[in-house]
Amino acid sequence: MQDTYKHKGMRKQLIDELRKKGITDERILTAFDAVPRHYFLDLVFEQQAYSNMPFQIGSGQTISHPYTVAFQTSLLELKRGDKVLEIGTGSGFQTSILCVLGAKVFSIERHKELHLKAKKIIDQLGFTPKLFFGDGYEGKATYAPFDKVLVTCGAPEVPQQLLSQLKIGGVLIIPVGDLDQQQMLRIERVSETEYTEEMFGNFSFVPMLEKTVR
Ligand code: SAH
Repeated sequence: MQDTYKHKGMRKQLIDELRKKGITDERILTAFDAVPRHYFLDLVFEQQAYSNMPFQIGSGQTISHPYTVAFQTSLLELKRGDKVLEIGTGSGFQTSILCVLGAKVFSIERHKELHLKAKKIIDQLGFTPKLFFGDGYEGKATYAPFDKVLVTCGAPEVPQQLLSQLKIGGVLIIPVGDLDQQQMLRIERVSETEYTEEMFGNFSFVPMLEKTVR
C-alpha cells in the first residue's frame, strides 16, 4: 500500500478537525500524522480513511473513531517508556499510535483473525509492540505491573484483574456500560488497595466479550 500526497493531505485535515474538537496535545496530533490510517482499513474505505468515522475491520468489529482514539490517548497522559497494556488490538491503529508516542505496548485481541491481520500491518510499519491472541479480561500477569491500561471495547464492569495489574500511580482508561453506551472512566491506583475514579462522558464501543474466537 502507498502513502501518497493525497493521503497526507487528508491526514492534515483530520488533524485540524481533531484540534477543533479539543485535542490539544501536539505529540498526539503528530502521532496521527505518523500513522497512515488507510493501511489499517479495507481498500474500499481508502478514500474515507481520514474522516472521523469508525469502519468495519472484519470479525464483526470496528476501528474506533479517530477522535475516540485521540481522546483515550490523551486521558492516558503517556510518558515515553510507559508500559501500556491495551485490550482490543482490533485493527492495530491505536496500538501504533501508542508506539509512536514511545510507549512499550502489550496488546491483546480475542479474535485470532484480527490479531494476525494487525500483526502483519504493524510489522510492516516497523513498530514492535508485543501482540497477544487471548482474553483481555485476564490482562497479562507475566508482564504486569503496567503504568497504563487502555481498554478499547465497552466493558459491562471494571475487570478486577486489570485493576490489580496496575502500578501504584498507574491509570486505567475504560469505557463501562451496557451494549449501547458506555461512560469513559479514568481510574487511578493511589495505593495497594485504593483507587480514584473520574468520568469523561458517553461513548459507544463494540462490547468487551469473554473467551477467544479462532
Ligand atoms: N483499538 C482498536 C479498536 C478495535 S474495537 C483499533 O484501533 O482498531 C475493539 C476490539 O476489542 C475488537 O477487535 C474486539 O474483538 C476486541 N475485544 C473485545 N473483547 C475482548 C477481550 N475480552 N479481549 C481482547 N480483545 C477484545
